[in-house]
Amino acid sequence: MSPHSAHIARVYDQIIARNPGEREFHQAVEEVFESLHLVLEKHPEYMDSSVLERMCEPERQIIFRVPWTADDGTVHINRGFRVQFNSALGPYKGGLRFHPDVLLGTMKFLSFEQVFKNSLTGLPIGGGKGGSDFDPKGRSETEIMRFCQSFMTEAYRHLGDTVDVPAGDIGVGRREIGFLFGQHKRITNRYEAGVITGKGTTWGGSLLRPEATGYGTVYFTEHMLRSRGESVDGRRVIVSGSGNVAIHAIEKVQELGGTVIAASDSAGCVHDPDGIDLELLREVKEHRRARISAYAEARPRARHIDGAVWSLAAEESADIALPCATQNEIDGDAARALAEAGIRAVAEGANMPCTPEAVDVFQEAGVLFAPGKAANAGGVAVSALEMQQNASRDSWTAEYTDERLAETMEHIHTLCASTAEEYGVAGDYVAGANIAGFLRVADAMLAQGV
Ligand code: GLU
Repeated sequence: MSPHSAHIARVYDQIIARNPGEREFHQAVEEVFESLHLVLEKHPEYMDSSVLERMCEPERQIIFRVPWTADDGTVHINRGFRVQFNSALGPYKGGLRFHPDVLLGTMKFLSFEQVFKNSLTGLPIGGGKGGSDFDPKGRSETEIMRFCQSFMTEAYRHLGDTVDVPAGDIGVGRREIGFLFGQHKRITNRYEAGVITGKGTTWGGSLLRPEATGYGTVYFTEHMLRSRGESVDGRRVIVSGSGNVAIHAIEKVQELGGTVIAASDSAGCVHDPDGIDLELLREVKEHRRARISAYAEARPRARHIDGAVWSLAAEESADIALPCATQNEIDGDAARALAEAGIRAVAEGANMPCTPEAVDVFQEAGVLFAPGKAANAGGVAVSALEMQQNASRDSWTAEYTDERLAETMEHIHTLCASTAEEYGVAGDYVAGANIAGFLRVADAMLAQGV
């Protein structure tokens, strides 16, 4: 084993020992470390400074009690989290996830990914993530409001526009951001617009923020395809999920001339050979907040399937897969099925939706593969633009914001591609993203001292 690989293995063992049982965090660290031996071979100085160890230990991890009262008067206790992982490049920045599966390890994996993602944007944002094991499903609007208020009653003391700036993620959309911001304002008696992003556009939010993650993922996909002389135009696309990221990815695919033939939610998926009717999907998911099966009931040729959306690749010729639901939703078998069905490109709209085995399968099969930290960075990038607008008490047009988003995604694509080439692994967007993300953070950490 080379000294570089031995160093990486030693640090990785320390991380496993120090964070027992946090499987997703281990997975996220391992995926980055697999690319870093290329860096250490060229620049052994990163070994001396313990920068790897420092990068894997969050600067601060906050865990707190969130008590709230349900409409029937019963008192519930949830656990709140904020992991402030790395502030070398700017204030901690990253979303809040409200989902019953949330554990500290989930928050650590997401905030670790966020550090690299935010670095790739080239914008001045550090990385963090937070949330709660609260399950918003089936809860009334007043229950959600009381939960958000209780969450912020503790969280506010750790946040600030130069300190830590949350946003949405799974289970946290504009409504929840409104309740959180309102409580922050009430407690602090300050209209600190830049303390949270994803706000409504009449009260400090940026145009295009809801669209940004999905649009950005498709912009990245288009750049990858163009590198092979292809494009999204005329392609058939399978999307997983039907939340904010999926809906806007579908919208952009359609604008670029592609056809989305499937989407999903946690209870199954719909196959629509005529192409997803976006207006109907929005009506079902955003307005009625119903199951996706209601979409199939309202469309003559669409059908609802209980299983995962990826099984459709075998029966339907599809060219592109955009996993936009949640972590580890594509395993090795699903990836093999997609590769055998002739999928040409996969871009992660969600965070870490492909298992390490799935990524290997895609790369060995020559499928263009974009990791989430590059492909879905458009969301946090427009959050950083929202912070800029708040700091200058300005609001930009949708056209200008979209231009900035498109430029940022092009920058990330070029950076990943050129870094991969420079390190001898041309075409490997995983290595390109990990190395480029690492270098910017590591150099800032070194400059700022131990
Ligand atoms: N939750 C999103 C992400 O995974 C956005 C974070 C933000 O806008 O701060 O990148």
